[in-house]
Amino acid sequence: MSDNNYDIIVVGSGPAGSSAAASAAASGRRVLLLERKPVPGVPVRCGEGIGHQGLTLSLPPRPEWIKSTVTRARMVSPSGIAVEVGNVDKSYILDRERMDADLVKTAVEAGAEFRASSPVIWAEETPSKRYKVIVKVHGDNIDTYNNAINNIEFEASCLILADGVESRLARCFGWDTALRLEDIETAAFARVEAEGIENDCCTFYTGSAVAPGGYLWVFPRGVGAANVGLGVIGSRCRSGLPKELLLDFIGRKYPGGRVTDLHCGGVPVGRWVKPLVRGGVMLVGDAARQVNAINGAGIAYSLYAGRLAGAAAAAAFSGESFCGKALLGYQRAWAKNFGKQQERSFALKEFVMSADDAFLDKIADSLSKEPPGAVSYLRVFMRTFSSRPLLLFKAFKLFR
Ligand SMILES: Cc1cc2nc3c(=O)[nH]c(=O)nc-3n(C[C@H](O)[C@H](O)[C@H](O)COP(=O)(O)OP(=O)(O)OC[C@H]3O[C@@H](n4cnc5c(N)ncnc54)[C@H](O)[C@@H]3O)c2cc1C
Repeated sequence: MSDNNYDIIVVGSGPAGSSAAASAAASGRRVLLLERKPVPGVPVRCGEGIGHQGLTLSLPPRPEWIKSTVTRARMVSPSGIAVEVGNVDKSYILDRERMDADLVKTAVEAGAEFRASSPVIWAEETPSKRYKVIVKVHGDNIDTYNNAINNIEFEASCLILADGVESRLARCFGWDTALRLEDIETAAFARVEAEGIENDCCTFYTGSAVAPGGYLWVFPRGVGAANVGLGVIGSRCRSGLPKELLLDFIGRKYPGGRVTDLHCGGVPVGRWVKPLVRGGVMLVGDAARQVNAINGAGIAYSLYAGRLAGAAAAAAFSGESFCGKALLGYQRAWAKNFGKQQERSFALKEFVMSADDAFLDKIADSLSKEPPGAVSYLRVFMRTFSSRPLLLFKAFKLFR
């Protein structure tokens, strides 16, 4: 075999791709991990929030990844009624730049080969039922005949596509990854340094003036710093709106605060992609829409799905022979462990999107009269649904 042949190629070194590469390489397969950016995880386009349970499902939390530990949450309604939520599971605000770099390192230590600055521009099945990916190389390399070589080809029996929300490569294999406008949140995100940021509390703001069809979040990130971001549902968005709304909020809430970073990005809030496997190709993470549609969180799912996909890829080999059907174990495991949970969050999202400001204020008003500490996420949920009997009935069906 030439050097450009591998057992498994993983495209994208976010949490999904790195954990897939690590688990596949740990089984001794020849794995190549390709990343288009020069430095994995940079720039960070993420609120960096993750629950303790979600993280520990895949990895023990490392102290150097954690910028803040959060034990409280507050929800603020459109007219400004604040509801303190008690009994919040411990959550973390991560240093994704550090964590993503460490995850790549873990994959390399497990035996994967990593190539940064390697954007995959095309992928296809070969006549010998393997998969070829074409990587665009920046600048001109010259071959012995003085021809410019700008592309490199790699081949593998199995391909794991972890190329994030855009998921362009899935289209090479017949997946339609276009999202309905109702299934994408256009997000703007900033790092803010300001006085008065509570270091142990996440705050969520709702309302059509703050984040139409979505919400705004403030996640503390060490003393006097926070990730502040918001998502606007695609069907209610126009060009530049998320950034305008975000800067307006920061200006009002943190006068004199300093914005150290500002990025925009998309969050898929649709259903997970079915099928997750076609032949020897698998989709994982945002590329597979493995995201909690109600809050846009995808790190924990990506880590977990990546591990599942990497293990399924390795198990599909017996010596040099490869059986694509064995990859279906990945889809079955995902459907069993998180499929229903994702369906529920999708259904809840559809409802939340349809809730108007007056309704959100009414719920917040009634919850704010509860004794301190009595409001849990479950109570918020029950109060929201019990005010609409038809929805309560639907909710019961979902949670049966
Ligand atoms: C503003 C914002 C805030 C968010 N906040 C949170 C949060 O607080 N908590 C949470 O859990 N989730 C959050 N998310 C979602 C979370 O960031 C994603 O779910 C998670 O990063 C998905 O991981 P992934 O590995 O699937 O994709 P990504 O992390 O997007 O990684 C994909 C990788 O693939 C690379 N790539 C893409 N195309 C190619 C190609 N053709 N060739 C080579 N490489 C390629 C990219 O450069 C990237 O490194 C947020 C998202 C956004 C946009």
